[in-house]
Amino acid sequence: MQRRILIVEDEASIRDMVAFALRKADMLAVPAADAQQALVALADAPPDLILLDWMLPGMSGLELARRLRGQKETAEVPIIMLTARGEEIDRVNGLEAGVDDYVVKPFSTRELIARIKAVLRRSHGDDGSGSIDLGGLRIDSAAHRVFAGDTRIEVGPTEYRLLHFFMSHPERVYSRAQLLDRIWGGSVYVEERTVDVHIRRLRKTLEPFGLADRVQTVRGAGYLFSATA
Ligand code: CA
Repeated sequence: MQRRILIVEDEASIRDMVAFALRKADMLAVPAADAQQALVALADAPPDLILLDWMLPGMSGLELARRLRGQKETAEVPIIMLTARGEEIDRVNGLEAGVDDYVVKPFSTRELIARIKAVLRRSHGDDGSGSIDLGGLRIDSAAHRVFAGDTRIEVGPTEYRLLHFFMSHPERVYSRAQLLDRIWGGSVYVEERTVDVHIRRLRKTLEPFGLADRVQTVRGAGYLFSATA
């Protein structure tokens, strides 16, 4: 199926160049010159991925990313941020806002397309067979089982849901509040500390397999699952 990519970029020359490269890579390019146009395009249909310029007139790319993460329809759509050199300092802000990757300008379209493909692969980690294989761990969603290599790991129900969520969304930081919302559901009142308790249990479960550090703490931001230690 042809992937639909939304490009939010105010510089027409970059927007056109990217759109051209996307079409050449057999992807569908949906251009937007600012956040307002992006929101209109998004209301139409959520894309498979968003390329988002950091510096936009009006609402900034970062503000838009935060807003999209907060909305149910777009919370899961991967975002690649386009930044100018020197804007990298804001990386942590971007990670907090749930950005999946960065590409620094000037970039080659070949590099950009490669990054897009990598993020798309990652965000669709579940290959359809209901199995996710990542960082030495394998989850069989149909059977609700977790394996390290060939060894089955006994995982509690909440830890299983956490791990499944993390492995479906690797290399992306989630705050405690976001995890509460995704794992426990917004309707139930649970303290944020509960998240820490279950993260600890999950790490303890993974520890004998040398995989505890797959679940990483990002200070002041939350947690992320990394395929590499
Ligand atoms: Ca710009």
